Amino acid sequence: MKAHSGEVGVYVRIRPTANFSQDIIECLPDGQTVNIHHKKDTKKPLCSRKIQRSSWSFRLEGVLQDVSQEEVYTRVCRRVVLGALDGYNGTVLCFGQTGAGKTYTMTGSTESYKQRGIIPRAIQEVFQEVQKRTEHTFSVYLSYLEIYNETLVDLLASLQSSAHPSPRSMVISEEPGRGVFIRGLSLHPIHSEEEALNLLFEGEMNRVIGSHALNRNSSRSHCIFTLHLESRSRTLSDAKYVTSKLNLVDLAGSERLGKTGSEGQMFKEAMYINKSLSFLEQAILALADRRRDHVPFRQTKLTHALKDSLGGNCNTVLVANIYGEASQIEETLSTLHFASRMKCIRTNPAVNEHMDPAAQIKKLKKAVQMLKEELSFGNTLVDRPSVLYDPLSEAQLAEIDSQVQKYLEGSLKEISIISVSQVRALFAKFKLAVQGQEQKVNARLRQTYNLGEENQRADTPAIKEWDTRGSTEEDEAGSFEVSQKNTQRPSSTRAKTKKSKDKQSQSKRQGEESPLSKKRSDSASKPKLNSVQSPEREQELQEPDTESQEPQESQPNGKEPFHPDSTLTKAEAFDDFKMGRGSKLNRILQENKAVLLERRSLHWQLTDKVNAVKREIDCTAATMQQYRETRGGQGRYSEPDDTLLNQLRELKALYRQRYEVLNDIKAEINYCQHLVDQCRVRLLSEFEKWYKKYFLVPEEDLETSMDNTLDQCDDNQLPPESSSSESFHNARYRMLRRRNTRSLCVTPEQRSSSSGSGQRTLSPR
Ligand code: ADP
Ligand code: MG
Repeated sequence: MKAHSGEVGVYVRIRPTANFSQDIIECLPDGQTVNIHHKKDTKKPLCSRKIQRSSWSFRLEGVLQDVSQEEVYTRVCRRVVLGALDGYNGTVLCFGQTGAGKTYTMTGSTESYKQRGIIPRAIQEVFQEVQKRTEHTFSVYLSYLEIYNETLVDLLASLQSSAHPSPRSMVISEEPGRGVFIRGLSLHPIHSEEEALNLLFEGEMNRVIGSHALNRNSSRSHCIFTLHLESRSRTLSDAKYVTSKLNLVDLAGSERLGKTGSEGQMFKEAMYINKSLSFLEQAILALADRRRDHVPFRQTKLTHALKDSLGGNCNTVLVANIYGEASQIEETLSTLHFASRMKCIRTNPAVNEHMDPAAQIKKLKKAVQMLKEELSFGNTLVDRPSVLYDPLSEAQLAEIDSQVQKYLEGSLKEISIISVSQVRALFAKFKLAVQGQEQKVNARLRQTYNLGEENQRADTPAIKEWDTRGSTEEDEAGSFEVSQKNTQRPSSTRAKTKKSKDKQSQSKRQGEESPLSKKRSDSASKPKLNSVQSPEREQELQEPDTESQEPQESQPNGKEPFHPDSTLTKAEAFDDFKMGRGSKLNRILQENKAVLLERRSLHWQLTDKVNAVKREIDCTAATMQQYRETRGGQGRYSEPDDTLLNQLRELKALYRQRYEVLNDIKAEINYCQHLVDQCRVRLLSEFEKWYKKYFLVPEEDLETSMDNTLDQCDDNQLPPESSSSESFHNARYRMLRRRNTRSLCVTPEQRSSSSGSGQRTLSPR
């Protein structure tokens, strides 16, 4: 049977009485309408009397007058119970003044089976249905909660094996997927109607009964009897299952405070009841008003506990219990008003469907296992039987780690790919390695440029240790600062640099040389005596320079960091770079270029000499030829003079030697050229990095100005030399010169082991 959707089902049940006031309470034959004809209290002021109505008509789902308990259950509750078995939440509420028959309707007489109420009948129906619905397995749990003076009481706590939870330990909670529930309320699994009835009667016994002026046996508390149902299909083995809650609620008397004449404890009880029912009414008004998006459920325990049992996705039914006597007409009227408001609440019941996580996991595991088997079958077919698809073990991860280390060090040329999980693990290790490297570089850069909070740590032992670790690329930055100081470049702050620039241009205008340009021209006019240096050999060059770091050490710690002037053109920035951060690289470039030039001039000289020997050989050969022809003219052939032959032989040997030296020089020139190119590229790339970092120039600007910068690089703008490194390079150059001179003057015997390439004329390049 399908639970209905639409509005809350509202019924009126009239307590049987011998004094039924027919003239006041009129039940129409349609069985759904109650008309009340009543003149209000005439003691009230005249002005309010004018607007007092005397008749009301209430059209409800049904009017239950003189009907049996069985009919009440069938008409009011049956569909809600069946809906709960299908997975819909259901709530049946009895509302009305004390003594009107709420408990009689809900629980009924415990002495007479025929007069049993909704709860025992619902229990019976549930277990009968469970027996009938063989295609499903059902779990039934039961709880019985009492809300007395805003305190939660577990009416079945006495049945718990553990210590009784104190009322304070219960709290109303809400969880997605589970809805509202009472944390700490005992849930009792039940397997039969009898078990459930035992619990019901136990709970009834435990109810707080207060004495009352109107009816001593009526409860002064709200009671919520709940059946928690869960059903799973026996036929379908999927992970889906449905749950539902069937709330059977016996509300406390709704009479107004003044009517009871309560005092002390009774007054307090009445006050709490009034308060909670008034909030229940507010919640119902809010639920009925579709424009309202907030319903004040949390104002009392009652509305909070019934949050998902009033309207919404729940099948809700209200039984409004009223007296038939004229004496209770005002409370009757009030109850009927409440009932008609309740009728306005729209409901949209929905099945509470869930996925069983354990069953789902089991199902997925089975699927994974099947796929693994499929994969290994496929791998066997393509001759890859060793591929595993289980998660990597600790040992495998350690092996991958070591492979990555070796690969990064260069001792392992390649890593064979085995599986996707291995590739993932490799990427993870590489990421870690990159991150570690990044951190190291950042720390060094910060330390080098005295940036950020790292300033404070400049003197920490770790950094000192790094400082003493020989020269590295980063050391250049340190020597850059030395260079700044040595060249007496103005302070590196933007303002000062700009000032210096202005000063320079002013000096230029006045036809004077600035100290800086003077230094440049001095350096340019000096003869450059350098040896060939590869960029990789910068480290060697650091050695003499480290000695010159004394001025840097004597610098105050609070020295300002270098900030290049952003107003500089790129060419000017390049000049600055060559004098500062890139001074070493630039110096190497210039020195290499000087050596290259020197080698080229040597090559030209040697080519002249080789050509001179060649000319002599030609000349000697011509003389010999002439001699032969002269003798041949006289009718006999004669060998040339031995002297001429020896001379020619010697000349040829000399030619071969010189030619070999020339080849050596050519190889050296090629090597020098390569180093110069390498230096230039390195200088430019370092500059670009530096420039991007400090000037943040967009990519396209960098590219357009690259050619100009390259040209300037070739302009032989020599950087200022450090005096100590200059002497070193001069000495080195002299040694190279001596070696070359010696190789030019090598004797034929010394070179006899090497073979010449024939008599080729060389022309100077
Ligand atoms: P409430 O719970 O609303 O305070 P009760 O259910 O305790 O009121 O009813 C008060 C008395 O009236 C009880 O003795 C009950 O047996 C009796 N009573 C109420 N309604 C009926 C009814 N429909 N038929 C017979 N007796 C009733
Ligand atoms: Mg009662």
